Amino acid sequence: MKNRNGVPRATKQSAVKVAGGTERCWVNGVWPDYGPKEDIRYALVWRQPRGSLAGLPNLQAVLVLGAGVDSVLSDPDLPIDVPVVRLIDAGLPGPMAEYALYAVLHFQRRMSDYLEQQRRSVWRPREELLARQWPVGVMGLGVIGATVARRVNAQGFPVCGWCRTRKTLDGIEVFAGTASLDEFLTRARVLVNVLPLTPETFGMLNARAFAAMPRGSYVLNIARGGHINEVDLLAALDSGQLAGAMLDVFREEPLPADHPFWRHPNIIVTPHVAAPTLASEAESQVLENIGRLERGEVPLGIVDRAQGY
Ligand code: NDP
Repeated sequence: MKNRNGVPRATKQSAVKVAGGTERCWVNGVWPDYGPKEDIRYALVWRQPRGSLAGLPNLQAVLVLGAGVDSVLSDPDLPIDVPVVRLIDAGLPGPMAEYALYAVLHFQRRMSDYLEQQRRSVWRPREELLARQWPVGVMGLGVIGATVARRVNAQGFPVCGWCRTRKTLDGIEVFAGTASLDEFLTRARVLVNVLPLTPETFGMLNARAFAAMPRGSYVLNIARGGHINEVDLLAALDSGQLAGAMLDVFREEPLPADHPFWRHPNIIVTPHVAAPTLASEAESQVLENIGRLERGEVPLGIVDRAQGY
């Protein structure tokens, strides 16, 4: 049976481990056909329609089917007193790190220049720098960012990282807090953004940040479109302060057909594909967390709503 949006109506039964054994957990349905509102105890969401979380008197938790929670926390109907739980890892760090590594190599080996030369049948070797001369800066050193940093570093690139609270990562120079942001940015030949989108990080990749980077650097955004000030990015590319950008996420998705990013010679656009969530992994994390909540335990991946991630 399908609901009125054509989504199969779920009536699946799943096993949840609770004290003393395993119990069944019923999926009531898919919004908007999810039965009586008072029956809903857990909401599984991803970019939920506005209003879908309103008026659920027995809601125990909102379980987000992804790593980023910006679209959930910005929902005015999100109940204040209900925990929000996100996916941790869920198969995302590996593909995100592959995507980042590809971009770093693409820029370092000047592949965009060679593609452009090929279109004009031009045979012209360009000066290339070695990996060890090509420092990479990773913004956000969480579950995904730390994997990106390690994977890129393992290929011989010097890597520094930036996060909010002090930490150590083998082989990675770590900068923490706003006071160290400029020092971090001056190192980055390629800036890889893997921050969560929060009120503090919104629009952080702006003219000020680009000006702090070495002239001719590159930006890679695999986090959220809201991190980038689009006008500032275009200006930095056009002035040569930035040499190129690879963008997987955008303020408006799908990227509108008339958006200047599509046609900019120094921008590579991909349609939010850096990493797919693994369904099997997501399912087991969600069921594990429902079991924890049922037992009165703290779920894994609980979001700090004050920090926004
Ligand atoms: P985590 O919560 O594990 O890590 C977040 C990192 O960002 C932490 O290192 C944190 O610092 C840092 N951070 C947060 N706020 C600030 C701040 N104000 N200043 C400096 N550092 C800050 O998140 P994940 O690694 O799991 O995911 C990161 C993001 O990647 C997601 O929020 C999502 O938006 C995006 N994503 C994109 C995908 C795609 O396909 N394009 C797929 C999956 C995720 P600290 O360590 O000090 O807490």
